[in-house]
Amino acid sequence: MGKEWCRFGTQDSTGLGIKLEQVTWGSWHPHKVKLAVSGCPRNCAEATIKDLGVVCVESGYELHVGGNGGIKIRATDFLCKVNTEQEVVEHCCAYLQLYREEARYLERTAPWIERVGLTHVRERIVEDAAGRKALCTRFLESQKYSQTDPWAERAAGKQADEYLPLEPATRPELVS
Ligand code: SF4
Repeated sequence: MGKEWCRFGTQDSTGLGIKLEQVTWGSWHPHKVKLAVSGCPRNCAEATIKDLGVVCVESGYELHVGGNGGIKIRATDFLCKVNTEQEVVEHCCAYLQLYREEARYLERTAPWIERVGLTHVRERIVEDAAGRKALCTRFLESQKYSQTDPWAERAAGKQADEYLPLEPATRPELVS
């Protein structure tokens, strides 16, 4: 829950989780993607079995990738440590874009990383700053066309006819 809500929290993990959701929701991927942010190494959000997990520490943010829960459990691989929330967001977007560009359809991040190797992912996301920024830019560009909020559209009146009362309810003479 992070330092806003828990005495063990090291960073505002809840706020960071909201930021990651705001930047990533609506994005399409080869398979489902799960993210989590834990406020300290006690790891209550179980970030180390997620496709991308952030573990907040006193000195920054540890990024973990390729985890999986469920039947075939796989602990994440440690990707790198960064110092700011902005770096977390950039690494997250770049990592998701690399996954989208290179993974096979219906391949979760866990088998994808096992297939291509963690070294490959590190080379593209951690060691190649320019490449990381380019991947992040492509992700954010595509998000401009992916984040259409159906609830906001309906609240604004789109397809309001779907919610009109049924005819018998508006014409009592039809109801016996
Ligand atoms: S991971 Fe658990 S112990 Fe650590 S800050 Fe979050 S809720 Fe608190």
